[in-house]
Amino acid sequence: MQEKNEARRDGIRITLRMTPQQRNLLRRAAEVAGVPVSTFVLRSACQAADLLVIEQQSGVSLPTVESLPVFTNPARLRWESIPADIRQRLLSNVWCGQCRHETTITNFSGTIKGGDLLLVGKCAECRSDVARVIEGS
Ligand SMILES: [Zn+2]
Repeated sequence: MQEKNEARRDGIRITLRMTPQQRNLLRRAAEVAGVPVSTFVLRSACQAADLLVIEQQSGVSLPTVESLPVFTNPARLRWESIPADIRQRLLSNVWCGQCRHETTITNFSGTIKGGDLLLVGKCAECRSDVARVIEGS
């Protein structure tokens, strides 16, 4: 029965050895995501692999805008719904309190706070913390 299923899906079965803590964590995360643990693990691994391959292909000098560091899922969706040219502009006119002028935000992460998209990162010039709020529609 099981072998038939595997053949039909044309997949490769792998066995993962993990600690009980890892298994519990993955099980909880999969529950939150609403998918089976195996799907969750595979999907997460593929996302990470995707990023690595893209980064490797485009070299180290990846533009900040496209590298999309740490985003929560809703924040990423919101961010990606903004046209690229506007995203670029949003990133390049962030106020830096240290430099006392507008600067570019780098190494940023994105979260949704109170319906607004919040980007938190570093000033491209002095590396101090800067943030930008993009109000929800
Ligand atoms: Zn600065």
